Amino acid sequence: MLFAHDTEVALMAAAALVNTGRGGKEQLPDPAALGDFVMTQGWSGERTGDQAELDAVRRLRPRLKRLWEMNKDDAVTLVNALLREGHALPQLVKHDGWDYHLHATPADAPLADRIAVEAAMAFTDVIRSGQLDRLRRCGAADCDDVHVDLSKNQSRRFCSTSCANRTNVAAYRTRQAGRLSSSA
Ligand SMILES: [Zn+2]
Ligand SMILES: [Zn+2]
Repeated sequence: MLFAHDTEVALMAAAALVNTGRGGKEQLPDPAALGDFVMTQGWSGERTGDQAELDAVRRLRPRLKRLWEMNKDDAVTLVNALLREGHALPQLVKHDGWDYHLHATPADAPLADRIAVEAAMAFTDVIRSGQLDRLRRCGAADCDDVHVDLSKNQSRRFCSTSCANRTNVAAYRTRQAGRLSSSA
């Protein structure tokens, strides 16, 4: 494993959140959709479930997205700002069958603050270990999603297997077409 388990989970969650606002379709159109997303990502803690909470989470997305485009110094500035704004105070906690891991916000902090701080904490690991280049954009021509390459040999190019398959099929068809026309 490249990073601690909770760091990797948090990085994947941050990418998933960024991607809910990409691809030309709002994937968090209402508080109920946010509720589903929070459940899928396994975020614990309190929620208000209202529009203000949704708006705050949506406002966080473009800020997190910038981490995929920034150099190290700018990423540090943003991560520090997120930690400061969210009043981060790292504590080891155990809950819901998870062994000890870090929470840097209390369970009753606003959802967007908890998400921001969890992501920022994970990015401190990425930055400290010099792994910022693992933040990638999907290699599929028709996909704009981001991902974090957590593979051992830094070989992950696509956000999902469907994007990988689609690209491979397209490349195969192109090769086949070239073969057919050259043998004709
Ligand atoms: Zn936890
Ligand atoms: Zn993709």
